[in-house]
Amino acid sequence: MVARHDLTTDPRLQEDLLQARRGTAFFARKLNELTDEELDGGTRLPGWTRRHIVAHVGYNARAIARLIEWAATGIETPMYSSPEARNQEIDFGATLSPTALRNLFDHSAVHLSVEWRDLPDADWSNEVRTAQGRTVPASETAWMRTREVWMHAVDLDNGATFNDIPAPVLERLLKDITSAWRTRGSDTGLLIKVTGTDLTFGDTSATDPTVVAGPLPAVVEWAAGRGSTGVTAAGPAAPASEVPVAPKWI
Ligand code: ZN
Repeated sequence: MVARHDLTTDPRLQEDLLQARRGTAFFARKLNELTDEELDGGTRLPGWTRRHIVAHVGYNARAIARLIEWAATGIETPMYSSPEARNQEIDFGATLSPTALRNLFDHSAVHLSVEWRDLPDADWSNEVRTAQGRTVPASETAWMRTREVWMHAVDLDNGATFNDIPAPVLERLLKDITSAWRTRGSDTGLLIKVTGTDLTFGDTSATDPTVVAGPLPAVVEWAAGRGSTGVTAAGPAAPASEVPVAPKWI
């Protein structure tokens, strides 16, 4: 069955899908601003050129589309056969011609959007497994894609910043990152405060915490391991107010 509009009638999910599609459009815009030669340039991710990022974002859409097919059919189709296969695929993709790379991004994004569109309400709660091994309902894929496209649009390093990312996406990212720290126990003594709000994350029970604070985009940028511009730190882990490196989250 092919529908013209999303089959889901859940307003929350419709909103999540919109956020993912907006992020995809934003990534597309930043990619289209780059010349073919500029695709060879460096990014905010160590060791990755823009080619690697475009390949990764394209293969990520394909991998998430496999999860939607899984949810629709019940036939297990993992995102990637292994972490090694995922990395090899990205390295291969980075060698494609500029036209092929751009097509990979465009076609995979359209394909994923169609898979989402045609998944009926009843199947969105079917469980699938992420590349990190988490079992999640299919509806979680909208968020999985949202965070990839927004963050990697900034990683392309051609003008996008964390200020371009919508506040609800930033807030959810910060929740994700800090809960990953919590799970690993790597947030001990670290308290994150978003200035101008009452948002507080991290080790809220610490008696003498190191407080990292700043506006939401700057705090998320720091927490995601992408530098400490615009954040301040005070406490035992911040001698001379030097901002500590954020714990790893992925
Ligand atoms: Zn990624």
